[in-house]
This record gives sequence, C-alpha cells and structure tokens, in this order.
Amino acid sequence: MPEAPWQDDRCIVCAKRRSMTVEHVIPQALGGALCCRFLCKPCNDRLGQIEAALKRDPGVRLSAEAIKHRTPAVWARVSEDQPFVGIGPQGNIPGTFKRGQFKVRAQKSVDGSLIQPTDAARRNLSRMLEHKRLSAAEVAEALARFDEAPEGSRVAIIAGIEIAKWPIEKISPVLAGPRVNPIVPVKIAYEYLALHVGDAILGPALDPIRALLAERQGAGAEFYSLEELRAGHPRPFHGLVIEPDQSHVIVQVRLFGNVAFRVHFINVRLRGATRCAYTHDLVSGEEDLNLA
Ligand SMILES: [Zn+2]
Repeated sequence: MPEAPWQDDRCIVCAKRRSMTVEHVIPQALGGALCCRFLCKPCNDRLGQIEAALKRDPGVRLSAEAIKHRTPAVWARVSEDQPFVGIGPQGNIPGTFKRGQFKVRAQKSVDGSLIQPTDAARRNLSRMLEHKRLSAAEVAEALARFDEAPEGSRVAIIAGIEIAKWPIEKISPVLAGPRVNPIVPVKIAYEYLALHVGDAILGPALDPIRALLAERQGAGAEFYSLEELRAGHPRPFHGLVIEPDQSHVIVQVRLFGNVAFRVHFINVRLRGATRCAYTHDLVSGEEDLNLA
C-alpha cells in the first residue's frame, strides 16, 4: 500500500511546521507496512529510538518465532541483532543473529580454549601459522587439516594447536529483553487515530498524549490507560481497531495476532464512530485500511 494520505503540514506530535518524514505506524522492525508522512524528523527519530526496544520484548520475539515458518522475512527482521543460543551435541553456545545468520559470540571457555565462529577461527589460525615462520606449503597443509576436520572431535593442526568444530543444530531465542514501553502502543494508537480524524488530531483533548509522545511536561497517566491482552496463539497478521460506541476513544493494537493492547484515550470522544479496522496479512503482504 502506498503512504496513507495526509494534508496538514504540521507534525502530529510537536505541531511544528517542519519538513515531514515517512513514519511507520507499526514499526518496520516488526514488518509493519502502514506509513504516513505526518511526523517531523526530530519526532520520528526520537520515537524510533523508543520503538527500537519493541522487537526485544520477549512476547514479541516468541510470537515471531512461533510463526516463522510462515513469515520468514518478518522473523529475520525481528531477529536481527538479537541474542540466541546455538544448540548442538557438544553443548549450547551464545551468539547473535546477523544478516540472516547465527554468529557465535567469540569467548574463552572454562578450559582456556577459544570459542569463535568458524570463519573467524580460520582467519586467526592462518595468522598464527604465519607468525610461526612455517613454509607456505606447511601453512596450506595445516589449513587443509582445519577445513577437513570432522565436526565434534578434536583435531591437531600443528604441535600445540588443536581445534574442535562444534555443529549447531538449531538456535533458540534468549528472552532477556525489556518489556514493551507503554509509549509504543500509545504511539501506534495515536497515529492510527490521526489517519481517521485528520488535523483534528491536533485538538486540545489530545495535548496530554502529545506531551507523553514528545516527552514533555504535562503528560500524565490520567489521560490514557493501557490494557494488555495477551491471549490466543500468534497469527501472521498485525491489526488495529477503533472500537465503536465507547464513552471515550479505545484503539486496539494487535501485533502478530496476540501481543495486544487496548489503548484508552480518556476524555477523547469520537462522534458517530463506527468500527474501523486495519489488517496487514504478514504472509501475503495484503493490507486493508478502512478509513470510514
Ligand atoms: Zn515533531
């Protein structure tokens, strides 16, 4: 879907007239696609930093993990730079997911040996061999022993240097990240609401929400509340809903189907609101933006 249309030239968070940047309502790091040019760069950058921690939330990671066979590209995005543990018959080893691959974290093991990714180990071995003033043929032979070493057993490369290749059969996420910062679902809900109400989003009723998003004085928990709805199995979609017929505006934010929040904008009313829903199918990429 192209950018959602936006007419006003004021940033919806700081209300300043600045050049606008494209903002993803649901973070791109989670495969979010709905975007609109309604934030200035300073606000976009600041909120981007707050949002960056969202993909480290254990619930978000578990949900992305559970449906990864159906949404491998989204899973790879969520997993980028995240801690994992590699599991193999020789044991578990910590590492990080980088550019589509699990990278072992270089470290010293309890017996004093070095644990390194295979490619880095080969480079370091090659450097060590060169310092030993071996002939080119001897270096080549030693590196061939490294390349041919079977997985799982110790192989002597030259006197004093042994290696062992550890196979990693699967990786499992390390769920140690921070929980969702409440500002993030509030931001998503606020931006989705803006797509419905246009420049009325800048009205005074939402001032305290903007204060929260801009991290200025005047923000208070009495102006919004957040219900967490963690229920059901993860499913490959993101969804946003404005609930109809409520005494104040309630926006549901649903990530991977089950990491879900009801964001209440207390004191904010939307006259004649009908149910509006946005869905983004993470398998087909199809989006349905209902701006009625
Ligand atoms: Zn701004």
